[in-house]
Amino acid sequence: MSDKLYDVIIIGGGPAGLTAGLYTSRAKLDTLLVERMIMGGQVMTTTKVENYPGFPGGIDGPDLMVRFQEHCQEFGLRVDYGEVENLIDRGGEKIVVVDGKELRARTVIITTGAEPRKLGIPGEQEFTGRGVSYCATCDGAFFRNVPVAIVGGGDTAVEEALFLTKFASRVYLIHRRDKLRTTPILQDRLFAHEKIEVLWNSVVERAEGSAAGLNALALRQVADDARRTLEVQGVFVAIGVTPKAHFLADILELDADGYILTDAECRTSMPGVFAAGDVRKKILKQIATAVGDGAIAAIMAEKYLE
Ligand code: NAP
Repeated sequence: MSDKLYDVIIIGGGPAGLTAGLYTSRAKLDTLLVERMIMGGQVMTTTKVENYPGFPGGIDGPDLMVRFQEHCQEFGLRVDYGEVENLIDRGGEKIVVVDGKELRARTVIITTGAEPRKLGIPGEQEFTGRGVSYCATCDGAFFRNVPVAIVGGGDTAVEEALFLTKFASRVYLIHRRDKLRTTPILQDRLFAHEKIEVLWNSVVERAEGSAAGLNALALRQVADDARRTLEVQGVFVAIGVTPKAHFLADILELDADGYILTDAECRTSMPGVFAAGDVRKKILKQIATAVGDGAIAAIMAEKYLE
C-alpha cells in the first residue's frame, strides 16, 4: 500500500470528474484523478454538442473535453490511468484499489459514468466490430454508400441517425414504439431528412451475416408479429446506457438499475464518498448536469475534510 494519503481521489475522467478535479485542485486539495482508458468520457463519442452553454454554433465533443483537461492542468490536477476494482471504508481513510494497488484518500468522488446498453440478441456479439457498433461517431465513416440501421428512440439514436447520413446511402431508425423520446428540434430534423426512414413499432430479433460481416437484420413488427428482413451493412445500437458501478454493488447503495443513490449534495451511503454525473441516479443526464454535480461533489468533499 502506498504511504501517500490524498485529500481526494476522483474515479473517472468525464465532465463530472474533470469538473470535480478543477474545483478540488483550485482549492489546493491534494487530488488524484484515476481514469480507466480515455479522458473525456462519453462526450468523446459525440460529434456536435449543441446544448452546452457558451459555445454558440456547437462544439465537437472531443474538442470540448480537451478544453476541460487543459483547464484542469492550469491548476495542476494529477491524473493516473488504471481500473478501479474496489473501494474499502476505513473510516477517515478510504482505500481505492486500482489494478491491484491500494491507494489511500480521505475522500472519494465517483464519476465513472455509464456505458452503452446491449440489445442481447443472437448475432450481436458475433458481429460487434464487423457491422454492429455502439458509436456512430467512431465507426460511421466505415459505412460509406451502404444502408445502415440505428436502433433506439432517444436523443442519441436521433443524433447518430443524422450523423450517419453523411456517409450511408440510407439510414433506417428502428424504434420499438410509435413515439420518440427526442427533443422536438431533433425530431424535426430527423423527419425532414430524405435519407432517413423511421421503422416504427419494430424490434430487432437477430443480426445476420457471413464471414465478411453483418448483412441483414431480422425484424418483428410489435403489433402483429409480422417478420421481415432488412438488408443493412451496419447497425448502430443506441438504446440507452447502464451505469458503470458494478464494482460498487456490495459497497454503496444502488438503485435497481445499478445507479448510485445520493442525496442532493451528491453524498453516497458511505460517509466521505460522493458520486457525480451519469453514474448517479438523477433526472437529467447531460454535460451541463454532470458539470453541476462535479462542482457540488467537490465542494462537499472540501467541507467533509474541514
Ligand atoms: P434514452 O433516452 O434512455 O433512450 C433509449 C431509447 O432506446 C428509448 O427510445 C428506448 O425505447 C429504447 N430502448 C431501450 N431499451 C431498448 C431495447 N432493449 N430494445 C429496443 N429499444 C430500446 O437513451 P439515450 O438516447 O442514450 O440518452 C441517454 C440520456 O442522455 C438522455 O437523458 C438523453 O436526453 C441524454 N442525451 C442528450 C443529448 C443532447 O442533449 N444532445 C444527446 C444524447 C443523449 P422507449 O422509448 O420505448 O423506452
